[in-house]
Amino acid sequence: MQTGKIGVTSENLFPIIKKFLYSDHDIFLREIISNAVDATQKLKTLASKGEFTGDLSTAKVKIKLDADAKIITVSDNGIGMTSEEIEKYINQIAFSGANDFLEKYKDDANAIIGHFGLGFYSSFMVSERVEIITKSYKEGAKAVKWSCTGSPEFTLDETEKDEVGTDIIMYISEEEKGFLDESKIRGILDKYCSFLPVPVFFGKKKEWKEGKQVDTEEDDQVNDVAPAWTKAPADLKDEDYKNFYRRLYPMADEPLFNIHLNVDYPFNLTGILYFPKIKNNFEVQKNKIQLYSNQVFVTDSVEGIVPEFLTLLHGVLDSPDIPLNVSRSYLQSDSNVKKISSHINKKVADRLQQIFKDSREDFEKKWDDLKIFIEYGMLTEEKFYDRAMNFFLFKNIDGKYFTFEEYEKLIKDNQTDKHKNLVHNILLLNLPKIKYTMFYCSTMF
Ligand code: ADP
Repeated sequence: MQTGKIGVTSENLFPIIKKFLYSDHDIFLREIISNAVDATQKLKTLASKGEFTGDLSTAKVKIKLDADAKIITVSDNGIGMTSEEIEKYINQIAFSGANDFLEKYKDDANAIIGHFGLGFYSSFMVSERVEIITKSYKEGAKAVKWSCTGSPEFTLDETEKDEVGTDIIMYISEEEKGFLDESKIRGILDKYCSFLPVPVFFGKKKEWKEGKQVDTEEDDQVNDVAPAWTKAPADLKDEDYKNFYRRLYPMADEPLFNIHLNVDYPFNLTGILYFPKIKNNFEVQKNKIQLYSNQVFVTDSVEGIVPEFLTLLHGVLDSPDIPLNVSRSYLQSDSNVKKISSHINKKVADRLQQIFKDSREDFEKKWDDLKIFIEYGMLTEEKFYDRAMNFFLFKNIDGKYFTFEEYEKLIKDNQTDKHKNLVHNILLLNLPKIKYTMFYCSTMF
């Protein structure tokens, strides 16, 4: 048996994890499951290079809860680790400048986890002991067991394991025993894992028997591995977009329009944004957009990532290029984030323009609901204002709609003065000069 000390340069990592990462303990499961998903995907990459020839079709991650033994286990049949890899990836933690950083971001668990690559170690937020039982895909690799009780000392030992892959076994501490509740785990899986790209299983499918819900034999898959936003727009029908919306927001009315984003240069961004139907203005809710990184849910607080007015939209954005594990202020000044934001802005305007052009009747029908987004956008985003001037509509008392250009044409004959100046209604006259009058004139018109 080998024993050793985990290589942290700062005094001791564990009290820091427990002390500073208090705010969002749920994250441990996301981190452990993401690692498991990565491990199965690495096997796919190796297979594509011809370095792995085993069966890939059964790639999966399984979560097991044993409430009596107070254990949560996350198992994958991914790449596994050799003892050398455990030494390199688990025992040696780059930890320079730790104290300064921790002081600065002490309330931001995401930032700390990301900065130090503490994904795996976040399991110690909830565990008094963690074991890794793993067998590498490499020819002749021996299975190993790593065990650590939340002090820098660990043990590493050879063990028996039939299948290639990794089990992360978390012995949940007394203070965190709330995580030993099935519905609590299910809630976390729903939030973070619903769209992971590899099947994730938790418990058994249930069925009704004699008025009661009972377990069947079949494992219950918690995720959809290919959600709508990962597909090509050409492969999706209107109904598919609506179904996906229903899955995201089961209680909401049908959305007005959707925008499918699909960019791979100069950054990677996919997603589907929806214009929701708003029944009344009191209901306007920000922060309904969910942000994902490679199908892992990260946050639904997207200020600073999408233009302010688009925080009113619903839907999903997925980008591996947004630095996710950093603080909000860092995000807002990040140049990639700025590029992404202005791209989304442009895409939304383009899509509205296209709908206006292709199906004006539909656009007009939805205008009363749509107006609030467009007005808010025009008030807050100069570039959007310029684009939206092409499809912003004025409605007259007979319920007829006009663009600004059409309206000008309409009044030209009657409202041109002797100096050949077009005389608009007073409020409209201000429109191109003082943008903020737009709001009032359009609602009063
Ligand atoms: P990160 O995932 O950000 O690199 P982690 O602390 O979560 O940081 O994990 C460190 C490393 O340990 C991973 O990069 C990976 O090489 C290895 N690892 C963690 N979990 C697994 C797993 N389930 N299977 C194989 N390797 C793993």
